Amino acid sequence: MVRIRLRPYHPTYVVAHYGGSVPEGSRARGAFEAIQRKLRENPVHEIEIEIVQEHDDACAGCKFRKEAEGGSVWGERHTCTSAEDPEIVAAVNRTNDKVFGLLGLRYGSVIKLPELVRLLAERIPVLDDGMLGGMALQEAYEKGLRALSERASGSAEGQGEVATDPERGRAID
Ligand code: SF4
Repeated sequence: MVRIRLRPYHPTYVVAHYGGSVPEGSRARGAFEAIQRKLRENPVHEIEIEIVQEHDDACAGCKFRKEAEGGSVWGERHTCTSAEDPEIVAAVNRTNDKVFGLLGLRYGSVIKLPELVRLLAERIPVLDDGMLGGMALQEAYEKGLRALSERASGSAEGQGEVATDPERGRAID
């Protein structure tokens, strides 16, 4: 089983990146691309998502993350520019609570990717919340949901590739 650790507001981005691409300007571009490689190189039924509160797999290698003796709200030994901005922390917490309410998950939940994709398609079909990606990512998000659902149902498993559009979307970390 392949595990990807994500904070609650990040799965919509990961799905949109799958349907489009990781934006050039994303501060966590390298990590988001590593997540995409995991999605493409493994059968979807062997991928599980762990929902975490702290810095997640998208934060790995982020240029704004640094070691800090006292840690931060999102890490025992790390901090970052977002963790030190109370407005961003509050916005992330609000969005995480909203996602929990919609998807019925909580911190520590581990969910297979096909089930997460099913929940996202059913309960967050539209990215009208900027913290979840916003409407700029809607087309790529729908495409990602469709492609991952098709892989989960077996119709496209093993193909892994979807068209990319480097101009589409933006990232918020
Ligand atoms: S700035 Fe964003 S991507 Fe970078 S470490 Fe902080 S939360 Fe993670």
